[in-house]
Amino acid sequence: MADSKRTKNRCSFCGRTEDEVGFLITGMNGFICDSCATQAYEITQEAMNAHKGGAARLNLKELPKPMEIKNFLDQYVIGQDDAKRFLSVSVYNHYKRLLQKDEGDDVEIEKSNIIMVGSTGTGKTLLARTIAKLLHVPFTIVDATVLTEAGYVGEDIESILTRLLQVADYNVPLAEQGIVFIDEIDKIARKGDNPSITRDVSGEGVQQGLLKLLEGSVVNVPPQGGRKHPDQKMIPVNTKNILFICGGAFDGIEKKIAQRLNTHVVGYNAVRNTAVVDRGNMMQYIAPQDLKAFGLIPEIIGRLPVLTYLNPLDRNALRAILTEPKNSIIRQYVKLFEMDGVELTFEDAVYEYIVDKAIEYKLGARGLRSIVETIMMDAMFEIPSEERKSFVVTLEYAKQQLEKANVARLQNA
Ligand code: ADP
Repeated sequence: MADSKRTKNRCSFCGRTEDEVGFLITGMNGFICDSCATQAYEITQEAMNAHKGGAARLNLKELPKPMEIKNFLDQYVIGQDDAKRFLSVSVYNHYKRLLQKDEGDDVEIEKSNIIMVGSTGTGKTLLARTIAKLLHVPFTIVDATVLTEAGYVGEDIESILTRLLQVADYNVPLAEQGIVFIDEIDKIARKGDNPSITRDVSGEGVQQGLLKLLEGSVVNVPPQGGRKHPDQKMIPVNTKNILFICGGAFDGIEKKIAQRLNTHVVGYNAVRNTAVVDRGNMMQYIAPQDLKAFGLIPEIIGRLPVLTYLNPLDRNALRAILTEPKNSIIRQYVKLFEMDGVELTFEDAVYEYIVDKAIEYKLGARGLRSIVETIMMDAMFEIPSEERKSFVVTLEYAKQQLEKANVARLQNA
């Protein structure tokens, strides 16, 4: 008995012999059994989560600087330089605020929530998604259109934070440092200047609710999202350090900008003002008062101090979007074919043709994909069953495929 005790290997943590455990792992100077290893894993996970909770794991030296953030965005998003710069700086400052130590000098960096205005399909969501790839904090995208005032059909405003909690794995301190992108913020604008007799359940009421989140307060969040219901246990989340980035198309806002600029023209520097206005792209002159004219309440505008815009995409931008971004549409199709062992190439004229059609049918950047999809559909159906090693899309082929599919149909895509 004494003999066997000496020769048998034991877990160096719990002391049980190899007969008493399921499995014993041998180390340099000892052993660990399966149950101790599992326990050790759980302890490390817990410790790491607790550590994640604080801003301590962020380190200013390791953070991407605004220029690096912009360079990263450049790899995926064409143009939109102003929006990229604003976003890069705001995200960097967001980190700085998280790292701020109380130095007793009463200087508290306040958060600068952002609002991006630009026609649909110009890259607002793409910018937000791309920045998320680079981040070390939880990030989520929510759609403002589903929000309604509490008590009405739709989702409660607090559900915005549910998604953030979910991506943070319900780690509340971590979620409290996150970034939320609220898309289609223009859809909760007040519908008219006159308060209507019927309640504006998806307009001003929602803005009032949103205000609470933007300005920083403790909000009770339904863990599963959707509507609150009485038996559900709520999770309190403090939004003080959550950065909100809002995006919206604000259709027709150019008119409000033009109106404002026109009234300004009457003045001692009228000549200079009229000279610099570029009528083709009014969006670049956007100012907070235009958002107010559109129907956002002043309190909300005040809580979104960083206002930036996206340019409409011109011919060159559309052409670049087709091929240049790291995961451009064309690269994606090349990859699809590559997986079947087929080398896919396009004649240069095909790119021009695709851009022409996107412009002709006013399809914008989103339409580029539907056009390419239509051109490639037959090839994608047939080629995997053929013995081919390469496929060249000629202008003639592209034209023939698109005409066959009746391109006008794409307009509704
Ligand atoms: P928005 O949010 O402004 O309505 P998105 O960001 O969703 O528009 O853009 C739709 C699609 O169009 C994107 O997935 C992307 O393929 C393409 N796209 C739009 N703008 C750009 C851009 N500036 N650079 C690269 N691709 C773009």
